[in-house]
Amino acid sequence: MLTVRNLSVRFGDVLALEDFSFDVGPGQVVGIVGSNGAGKTTTLSAISGLVARHEGSVTFDGEAIDRLTAHAIVERGLIHVPEGRRLFPFMTVQENLELGAYPRAARAKREQQLDFVFSLLPKLKERRGQQAVTLSGGEQQMCAIGRGLMSCPRLLLLDEPTLGLAPLLVEEVFALVRSIRETGVPVLIVEQQVVHALQSADHAYVLESGACVMRGEGHALLANDALRRAYLGV
Ligand code: ATP
Repeated sequence: MLTVRNLSVRFGDVLALEDFSFDVGPGQVVGIVGSNGAGKTTTLSAISGLVARHEGSVTFDGEAIDRLTAHAIVERGLIHVPEGRRLFPFMTVQENLELGAYPRAARAKREQQLDFVFSLLPKLKERRGQQAVTLSGGEQQMCAIGRGLMSCPRLLLLDEPTLGLAPLLVEEVFALVRSIRETGVPVLIVEQQVVHALQSADHAYVLESGACVMRGEGHALLANDALRRAYLGV
């Protein structure tokens, strides 16, 4: 459903991404892994229209979306949950979630989608009247993903959802990603947590300095000696 071909992004003299091609199929979790500055955020931002100038093509369900504005891309159901959560700290959990139901298709389904999010994330239901700033880091991340789900995504883009979280919470985030896949929503996830990402991903891509250096099924990459040496130190 998402087809990215020969995507390149340049910021002035910096070639942040070069000739990257990949696909996300229906019901798939696809991972993009790599270290700091590898081009992961740039990839998501180019897809969701936050980086305007790029070369290559991005097609979603057969429609070219690479010249659309960010809000037009959101209306087509590609929902980007940004790195760093970006919640509104002094609004309640429920208000933050409801803001996710802004796209036209999501507005009519707001109540139903809120029940769905609370069923996936019961802790958010308990805390729905609290200001977002009072949540723990893990709960804030869940709230950010919940807000993304409120937009009725047809594809969810997650940018480093485990950044700064304790190991147990990292597990929880990946369990949530797998639950989201089970509900039929495909997920494109960008991560530095290579092992977890590859364990959960049907297919994954490794970026280094803006170039894709490895690709394959998540489990196959985890068994790859070159990847294990470079990223797992074994
Ligand atoms: P991180 O894990 O640190 O977020 P990343 O893999 O997401 O890393 P990007 O943020 O995509 O990496 O950055 C890729 C390269 O592009 C880096 O060299 C970065 O410095 C550069 N870059 C990203 N955004 C900009 C920008 N707005 N202006 C100039 N250079 C940028």
